[in-house]
Amino acid sequence: MQSFVYNGLPARVVFGSGTRTQLKSEIERANCKRALVLSTPEQKSSVEELAASLGGLAAGVFAEATMHTPVDVTERAMQKVKELQADCTVAVGGGSTTGLGKAIALRTDLTQFVIPTTYAGSEMTPIIGETQGGAKTTQRTMKVLPEVVIYDVDLTMTLPAKLSATSGMNAIAHAVEALYALDRNPVMSLMAEEAIRALGRALPAIVADPEDRKARSDALYGAWLCGICLGSVGMALHHKLCHVLGGSFDLPHAETHTVVLPHAFAYNAAAAPEAAERIARALGGNNAALSLFALSGTLGAPRSLKELGMPEDGIEKAADIAVKNPYWNPRPIERNAIRDLIARAWAGAEPQPG
Ligand code: NAD
Repeated sequence: MQSFVYNGLPARVVFGSGTRTQLKSEIERANCKRALVLSTPEQKSSVEELAASLGGLAAGVFAEATMHTPVDVTERAMQKVKELQADCTVAVGGGSTTGLGKAIALRTDLTQFVIPTTYAGSEMTPIIGETQGGAKTTQRTMKVLPEVVIYDVDLTMTLPAKLSATSGMNAIAHAVEALYALDRNPVMSLMAEEAIRALGRALPAIVADPEDRKARSDALYGAWLCGICLGSVGMALHHKLCHVLGGSFDLPHAETHTVVLPHAFAYNAAAAPEAAERIARALGGNNAALSLFALSGTLGAPRSLKELGMPEDGIEKAADIAVKNPYWNPRPIERNAIRDLIARAWAGAEPQPG
């Protein structure tokens, strides 16, 4: 007999092709009148076009979003919010831009519209990580959960194949950990398996042909489900390790997730047999960890922490930090086995139970 608690998060989701044209009516529907449109410097020109299409509803554009949501950037954005008397934000981009919208919402409670252009999934979560003075603080608060999310497949067509692959593996990691979360539930497990299946078939097709619209649609659909997983249940070893590695060695976010995932799952596989079965079934293989490893190989994605720039003598340090604060994981955290896991991920070796 199973027992569980299911807590659904409120969000309005519009999904499809060309859906960005519905932004104006969505803003009106929410009774907002002055939108501050957010982006990274790289996506500024396309976002300016979108802002222009809003006519009088666009109060301005702030195009300084960057990785890890630094507080000094948020403070400059807050100046803009005040100057322009914005009453909502529109974040168009990946997790970095969504993060800036969340940081503004944390301080103002302004309504957030998000148009995601990667597969990171932040738009579906009440989680925000901010950095100041080199330290990252993460918190969970409903204040930062975006109210309206518009998924427009068209905007993901420009996401380069390499970034699509790692961003998609980053998304799969949310679904994988949802399957063995302490607070997992049957609805989330259905979503997680479906998400892995959708991304597992879409990502190789995107790498083969980045203009494959059907695959792009599948991948964005899978990424949406993965985002719900991340927002709804607790994460464990994999996310903890990526946080430690990213923070300690300044490694790129999505690539680090891509490298670590098969190894983190191999560590947990025996303690999470139902998750292993679902992942293997979704990826059409017999062994979940090896199927995840094979997927990153098919995608031509990075497979070693070494190639991401982590020094070999960082392995011991990372193991020490990773076991310092206790957290829940289906298998107890054992320092030597964690060290070996990190060493294998560093070298790009095949995942093993450890
Ligand atoms: P990103 O937002 O940093 O984007 C990477 C680069 O790709 C940027 O230069 C961006 O402008 C560009 N880009 C994005 N979409 C594009 C497109 N369609 N075409 C061309 N270029 C495009 O990367 P990300 O992986 O989406 O986000 C990573 C950040 O998000 C990290 O800081 C991570 O911590 C955070 N994150 C937070 C949560 C959460 O729930 N709080 C969840 C996942 C990720």
